[in-house]
Amino acid sequence: MIPKTIIEPFRIHSVEPLRMTTEAERRAALEAAGHNLFALRSQDVLIDLLTDSGTGAMSSEQWAGIQRGDEAYAGSPSWFRFEAAVQRLFPMPHVIPTHQGRAAEKILMAAVGGPGKVVPNNTHFDTTRANVEATGAEAIDFVIPEGLDPALEHPFKGNMDLERLEAFLRERADDVPLVFVTITNNSGGGQPVSLENLRGVRAICDRYGKPLFLDACRFAENAWFVREREPGQQDRDVADIVRDFAALADGMTMSAKKDGLANIGGWLALRDDALAATCRNLLILTEGFPTYGGLAGRDLEAIAQGLEEVVHHDYLRYRIRSTGYLGDGLTRAGIPIVRPVGGHAVYLDARALLPHVPPLEYPGQALAAALYVAGGIRSCEIGTVMFGRRPDGSERPAALDLVRLAIPRRTYTQSHVDYVVEICAEVAARASELRGYRIVDEPPALRHFTARFEPLPA
Ligand SMILES: *Cc1c(COP(=O)(O)O)cnc(C)c1O
Repeated sequence: MIPKTIIEPFRIHSVEPLRMTTEAERRAALEAAGHNLFALRSQDVLIDLLTDSGTGAMSSEQWAGIQRGDEAYAGSPSWFRFEAAVQRLFPMPHVIPTHQGRAAEKILMAAVGGPGKVVPNNTHFDTTRANVEATGAEAIDFVIPEGLDPALEHPFKGNMDLERLEAFLRERADDVPLVFVTITNNSGGGQPVSLENLRGVRAICDRYGKPLFLDACRFAENAWFVREREPGQQDRDVADIVRDFAALADGMTMSAKKDGLANIGGWLALRDDALAATCRNLLILTEGFPTYGGLAGRDLEAIAQGLEEVVHHDYLRYRIRSTGYLGDGLTRAGIPIVRPVGGHAVYLDARALLPHVPPLEYPGQALAAALYVAGGIRSCEIGTVMFGRRPDGSERPAALDLVRLAIPRRTYTQSHVDYVVEICAEVAARASELRGYRIVDEPPALRHFTARFEPLPA
């Protein structure tokens, strides 16, 4: 008999107490933070779903690796363990460690970008886009149209639109240094890319002689979705599916804060010797010697062990189910969410839940603030606050007004998630009473991090 209950495949070895607060305390904390959840002290947060990046729990073996860490400047055994762990999944000759994912992006783009260049992706993550644009190049997104419709069910909403990619290369191939595919598609809701789609991208890259790079931050979650959803993949080992993705790519950038199961780290890996030499020289300028990058030996150990654990089927079954469990609970409570639920987060549709709050009064902000006051839950507005400001300072509604509940890995239990569902349902029941916000102070760019808000009068 196969039990129906999918359990956390670990028991708890060390605990971090949560600090309970009263609603009055949370109101005061939010006011002091200018109604911006980024400005809260994390001690005033009960369930922190701001991001899944670097916020997960490490295993006892990872902590053992931290003790084993060898801090030799060059050629440390920790480096060789790290390199072997990366190459077991991504057999690429050059592995270049960095302090996190964006450092790998910066080095790669400094080597291949520049004015007049264009980089296609299914959807650029914001740091990837910023690092492309910082070189004067252009970042362009070709996710399939289904990936832009929040209510539409599709197994691989992260897929690249192959026709648009090919049409673009037909026109502009000379300006394209490489093609990126983000697995899973973070900015598109953590949606997976199929193996078949990546094969299609590879064939197009071959026709135009272009290297294919993976933004592979959530490679294991993506491979699990492939195993569950793609015809013919059901009996396969996830590590083999990951190696199939790797075999189709010429290189990758990676944030170990996601599927490295670590709190810091990243890398750039690639096949081309000349490009690798250029990248290593850039690495030495800003990150460090090529056998540690921006990392301590102990971090390399924690990542090496994390890469062993992240492809365990029991872990991935639990991981994807725990995100789905939150999505199912919210759906049962009648709360509109982006479908299907992705790998690392659930997105509440704030515009649908608060139809009386117009986009320029920030329904996502209103919902996120209410979840904090009601239950100490910290989420992240992904909507008009984040994307609504034009470079000239004017405003327009973002495509969607969402609130992201990102799930840190191996950190919260099922009762924590039940609590989140209860608080969301309680807030949704009085959604019509929630008021919008106005911004009283904002920086010229990336305003969501530091803007200050004021609730609008009833
Ligand atoms: C987090 C992330 C990055 C950047 O990695 P950092 O470690 O935060 O610098 C790049 N791409 C995707 C898809 C990500 O999720």
